[in-house]
Amino acid sequence: MIVNRCAKPPANVDEYKDLWIWLEQNDGELSHISLEMAGIGRKLADKYKEKLVGILLADESGERMSQEAIEYGVDKVIFVKNPVFRHYRTRPYADTISKLVEERKPNYFIIGATHNGRDLASRIAVRVNTGITADCTEIDIDPTKKLLEARRPAFGGAILANILCSRHRPQMASARPGIFKPVERVIGRSGEVERIDSPLREEDVVTKLLQIVTREEVDITTADVVVCGGMGLGKKEGFKMLEELAAELGGIVAASRPTVDAGWISRDRQVGQTGKTVHPKLYVAVGVSGAIQHIAGMKTSEFVISINKDAAAPIIKYSDIALIGDAYDIVPKLIDSIRKGRQAQREGKTQGQAK
Ligand SMILES: Cc1cc2nc3c(=O)[nH]c(=O)nc-3n(C[C@H](O)[C@H](O)[C@H](O)COP(=O)(O)OP(=O)(O)OC[C@H]3O[C@@H](n4cnc5c(N)ncnc54)[C@H](O)[C@@H]3O)c2cc1C
Repeated sequence: MIVNRCAKPPANVDEYKDLWIWLEQNDGELSHISLEMAGIGRKLADKYKEKLVGILLADESGERMSQEAIEYGVDKVIFVKNPVFRHYRTRPYADTISKLVEERKPNYFIIGATHNGRDLASRIAVRVNTGITADCTEIDIDPTKKLLEARRPAFGGAILANILCSRHRPQMASARPGIFKPVERVIGRSGEVERIDSPLREEDVVTKLLQIVTREEVDITTADVVVCGGMGLGKKEGFKMLEELAAELGGIVAASRPTVDAGWISRDRQVGQTGKTVHPKLYVAVGVSGAIQHIAGMKTSEFVISINKDAAAPIIKYSDIALIGDAYDIVPKLIDSIRKGRQAQREGKTQGQAK
């Protein structure tokens, strides 16, 4: 356990209440991470009898998003309205939310560790003079001391550190995307919306939004079938046969970190501690050794098939089926047998129809 202390005198715990989450939105739509935060927030709020409050900065589209957040389990939304908030910008967001934190004194504040969330969470923590545990993969509360128990892999994934910030409020953590599940939406669920009109003017914001360039990102986190390539492929071209295999299985291609570092495939496909966390029904690991940092991103897969030359590779013990041999020998045979199986199925059906 790591305990984070600093010189500030301990906060008076009795002045603090509620569990806050940041409702991240993008161009008037709640981001998926907000639903994930509502999911973990609801779980903790129910377990420890806290009120779950969502903080939403948006233009008028915030009315619709507030109701959506309530339907995903939030008890109350504090909706700060201003056209300036349609798109995330560091200063106006960090200033507005920090001011709210100082006025309202939430006990706990959890923010999704997206690009914007990481930027925002650390700035709020500094402004309100508290600590933050970044990129957590597990979050719980010690109800007696009212401390957030924030867990994350540390020292290159060698340990799972339970980090406490024992003297400061709010207790803050950012939470890794793709780990926490949203609760089921309950259409028409009722909750409270507090509306605050922000007096901010566009000319008060020093950063100007000139253009929004969206980068096409592949989302491997929601795929049911993931075919992951590792250094065992030996070359960039090896991913071509994985694309074929993924297409046959209706899945998506992912990769280990060194293959990304080598420039064989784009970073948005990286699985693992410093990549994405996936939860597919089927995970096929081809030429992946199964280092602890890789396992961190795929260990909740329902069924794992590994293809590896080395019967002693660590990935084998995480596999339901291990095919020992050369990927360039096994993968084409797999593709071929899937195609033949499908063909036979089609022919069987046609013969059945003919009868
Ligand atoms: C702080 C930190 C964070 C990290 N984060 C990540 C992360 O997010 N994701 C990640 O993946 N890694 C991460 N790593 C790197 C990690 O430690 C491993 O180095 C990496 O996962 C190994 O990648 P690999 O399995 O592709 O390659 P290797 O470890 O080189 O394994 C290659 C495997 O392929 C097998 N093989 C070789 N040839 C063939 C063949 N022809 N057919 C079949 N099998 C074959 C070998 O037996 C071996 O098991 C991180 C490391 C650190 C220190």
